[in-house]
Amino acid sequence: MKPNVYIGEEKVGRDDPRLEGGMNIIKETFDCAHDPDYEDLCTVTSHITGKKINRFCHIHQSEEDLLKKQKMTRLLCHRVGGCIQRCMGIDSMNALSIITYEMDQALGTDHYKRFIKYLEYFQDRDIVASCAQTDAKGDRLKRPHQQEDPDQYLRVIETREDGIIVRGCKINITNTPYADEFIVVPCRYMGPEDKDYAVAFALPGDWEGVKLLTRPAYSKKSKHMEAPLIHMGDAETFIIFDDVFVPNERVFLNGHGDPRQTPYAGFLALMFAHYHRHTYTGCKPAMSEVLASAAALVAEYNGIEKASHVQDKLSHIIGIAELVFAAGESSAKHSEKSPSGTQIPDEILTNAGRRLAGENIYEEYKILADLSGGLIATLPFEGSFFSEEVGDLAMKYLKRNPRVKPEYIYRCFRGIEGMVVSDLGGLMQVAGVHGGGSPQMETITMMMRYDTERLKDISKYLFGIKSKLKRYERPSVTPRKMLEKFGKAMQRKKKD
Ligand SMILES: Cc1cc2nc3c(=O)[nH]c(=O)nc-3n(C[C@H](O)[C@H](O)[C@H](O)COP(=O)(O)OP(=O)(O)OC[C@H]3O[C@@H](n4cnc5c(N)ncnc54)[C@H](O)[C@@H]3O)c2cc1C
Repeated sequence: MKPNVYIGEEKVGRDDPRLEGGMNIIKETFDCAHDPDYEDLCTVTSHITGKKINRFCHIHQSEEDLLKKQKMTRLLCHRVGGCIQRCMGIDSMNALSIITYEMDQALGTDHYKRFIKYLEYFQDRDIVASCAQTDAKGDRLKRPHQQEDPDQYLRVIETREDGIIVRGCKINITNTPYADEFIVVPCRYMGPEDKDYAVAFALPGDWEGVKLLTRPAYSKKSKHMEAPLIHMGDAETFIIFDDVFVPNERVFLNGHGDPRQTPYAGFLALMFAHYHRHTYTGCKPAMSEVLASAAALVAEYNGIEKASHVQDKLSHIIGIAELVFAAGESSAKHSEKSPSGTQIPDEILTNAGRRLAGENIYEEYKILADLSGGLIATLPFEGSFFSEEVGDLAMKYLKRNPRVKPEYIYRCFRGIEGMVVSDLGGLMQVAGVHGGGSPQMETITMMMRYDTERLKDISKYLFGIKSKLKRYERPSVTPRKMLEKFGKAMQRKKKD
């Protein structure tokens, strides 16, 4: 690929060693698809070609597909000790499959046909994609068209016969320097005056005019000890679009060229977030289990495993992991098929699970830091433990549980240092809060959908304000109903 990655002031190629850690994570998504032990989760039959494909290229067709995606995500995150980084692309593809279909039905556009053609290419080449949703956003209280600088949200500045020209910047985007492509979707609802900002498309990562300002995070290298975690890393990117041409066949939404498409921006934003939060119900339990696993191990090595406070703390993390996973599982069970055929998980359960995970992330890290003691932040560098002069002394003062070799104690503390105290560890903590949308976004989505009037009926009955209480069941809500209502309104508008 053409070099368009900037790390600090350097312009680097994809072979820059600081990007290797992220690539090693993506590698796992290919390796496991070819491993007979994991094939059942990591591969699937394409509904458009009938070919066997990587599940990271699949559009979910059933409840089982959603469940398997969740299980695959959990499995792979265990293997890399954190974020698997390949989900954003396919979460946005699932969202596009629904919205482009709806738009074609209501407006007579041909975006779904374009999308299916792109999907075929995506599946055939086993494409790794990032999803660029988050705009720079400028003044948080202003809508895109109200910003002092009109480029704070990515926008179309020209619609031509053969495509569009876009300008702007998407920030905080995971995996882009080692993705084949990135998929751009809007990050919020767009009103009529925001029509230029209602845009979605896909491009190769090294496309003309695209600049990737990347912050890699990686583990400290080891000279003396081999361990999988040491090879893992991440890269977060500002994707700058310096007046970039996007050919029509890669454009999936364009309110600038056709203002009727503008209202679909909000649905697309919401639908990507929805699929991504459902994916979180697979990755976050894994992340919690990685932390719980390290906490249990360090408690054993510190000789405190049986203490009751340790059991309480471990059970807290395990409990959160199980509840978050159960929320995703249950939202798959309550999922519905959209008119495009794509399966949509339940919205309240998905958001409730994602929010529970986000709210607990620091508590989980706190437990791990608590049970580890201060050594995870003060551990002398590796060389000291292998030095001829001071190595034996360093190992001697690492001893804790007499049944555990000092080398294992060193490995354990070094591993937890990487998880908690490193660049990568810090990133994972913030990712746990904001990835997929800040907790407030989950609250907004839940409360938009939840029927609080029905909820109040319980109290009205109990307090004697209403004489009868209709049988109450939790509301099962997927964005499908909302889409149907919206689609009908658009079709009526078209007839008028
Ligand atoms: C490690 C990591 C990886 C990520 N990967 C991706 C990715 O691959 N793709 C992608 O598109 N995004 C990605 N994100 C971005 C993520 O989705 C955003 O960080 C998240 O949506 C929050 O947006 P923000 O960072 O702009 O924070 P802000 O929106 O600035 O939020 C900061 C605070 O302000 C509050 N706030 C914001 N607006 C308002 C308002 N109008 N009124 C009141 N309060 C408000 C928020 O609730 C929050 O409390 C990633 C983030 C992280 C940390």
